[in-house]
Amino acid sequence: MMQPNISRRGLLGGAAALPLMAAAGRAGAQVATQGAQVPKVNRVTLGEFEITALMAGTATREEPHKIFGLNASDEDFAAVSEAANIPTDKAQFFFTPTLVNTGAELILFDTGLNPDGIVAAVEAAGYGSDEVTHVVITHMHGDHVGGLTGGDGPTFANARHVTGQVEYDHWSGAGGETFTGKIQPLAERFEFIADGDSVASGVTAMMTPGHTPGHMSYMLESGGKQLVLIADLANHYVWSLAHPDWEVSFDTDKAQAAQSRRKLLDMLAADKTPFIGYHMPFPALGYVETRDQGFHYVPHSYQLML
Ligand SMILES: [Zn+2]
Repeated sequence: MMQPNISRRGLLGGAAALPLMAAAGRAGAQVATQGAQVPKVNRVTLGEFEITALMAGTATREEPHKIFGLNASDEDFAAVSEAANIPTDKAQFFFTPTLVNTGAELILFDTGLNPDGIVAAVEAAGYGSDEVTHVVITHMHGDHVGGLTGGDGPTFANARHVTGQVEYDHWSGAGGETFTGKIQPLAERFEFIADGDSVASGVTAMMTPGHTPGHMSYMLESGGKQLVLIADLANHYVWSLAHPDWEVSFDTDKAQAAQSRRKLLDMLAADKTPFIGYHMPFPALGYVETRDQGFHYVPHSYQLML
């Protein structure tokens, strides 16, 4: 019988008896650490479709209660965060465009923060930016349209550009740096769609307004399976799901945003439909269950690998 003896005395004795190994141990302590690592892409299948979540960026933000739960007390915010084992003083943000290969089209939903970031992400998924056939913009905030165009012109020169008519009309009236810098230069390229319109077979726009006036989610359907790209319908996997009515600073119309959240999340929970949320923790793919007065996030495991 060999019983491991790993008492402290045993470890010290072993080290003293093996000076060469002890020296190697000290050298080992100088190996450079590399920091936390997040995968660049995550690909699943949905019927005939391949769906790849792209990690276009991640960043730590301070004081999340100034963004989420504006109408919740500090005590409530702290209690909900503690129950989910996340801190209240900072939060990790993720930016997750999605690439859908239908077999006939390569459709990119949203473009991250800048052209370099989205091109690197598309390449990490195994494609060239010239292969993208459609770029779909869910709504016109800078973290979704930033990669559309830069110093070298349109990032996806061969792609049809598609967005919601209501969203475009709103921002063309409101203006702003993001619209004039990223959308206006491509205005001639854009095709405009409405609620229920299809981008391609099995890719259907769903109006989910509130975050912005024309914010759209997209239903993906193939082989009898469904997945919804919810974009910014819900921006945090705890604070926006457990309490859909908690106000979010980024939402233009807070009451309408809460109404859209409840409506679509109810549907996702009832049908056990998977979804990708642009700001959910990477790979941003999961399910929701109803819990108490709100919802609970259940990360995807392997359902969409089978
Ligand atoms: Zn966003």
